[in-house]
Amino acid sequence: MLYSPAVHLMTRRCKSFAAESWGVRPRAILFDMDGTLTQPMLDFPLIKAEMKIGPGPILESLAELTGERRAEAEAILLRHEKTAAENSTLNEGCLDLLNGLSSARIPTALITRNSVISASTVFAKHQIKMNLTITREDCAFKPSPVPLEIACQQLGVSKDQTWMVGDGLHDIESANAAGIRCVWISHGKPITFAAHPWKTVADLCELAEILRALPK
Ligand SMILES: [Mg+2]
Repeated sequence: MLYSPAVHLMTRRCKSFAAESWGVRPRAILFDMDGTLTQPMLDFPLIKAEMKIGPGPILESLAELTGERRAEAEAILLRHEKTAAENSTLNEGCLDLLNGLSSARIPTALITRNSVISASTVFAKHQIKMNLTITREDCAFKPSPVPLEIACQQLGVSKDQTWMVGDGLHDIESANAAGIRCVWISHGKPITFAAHPWKTVADLCELAEILRALPK
């Protein structure tokens, strides 16, 4: 059994779904961190303003800077990420979901544009364990498909048996580029960007119920 009766009771209030369209349980799940495992931690407009960069994505903007200017901007980003990680809060159902996956021997990986120190802080604070963590220091970052492909290789699973779970555009784009099914966490809001996830769930609670219901 994938989840305990207590978790089952907790998740019963999640809406029903068409199980047949989901196929079978994945052999591995890759997770985004900010906004997916945790409640949104980072105030991106504030960080961009302090870094004195434009409205584009932070890491791409940072990569265009050089020398002292880049060092100063990166220090601002790291300071915000450190504070956010130390004060992070998990989304509802996160630990139950991860514990259920562990019990069912479905390996998990974190794929984040965040820093390794930030990811380590969040994992230690909330006693999260995953089989693999890939941060922006490790390789090309999302929306590149590379970290997802590396995760599948290191976990020993095929891409067509793996799900990417995330709340952002980069998660969908990286998964689509890798040929991996993306489950988008909507938090009950309509999608506002031009990318198409494979499936949408409102939250981790709904995802847990779906996984529990799917055949192996
Ligand atoms: Mg996110």
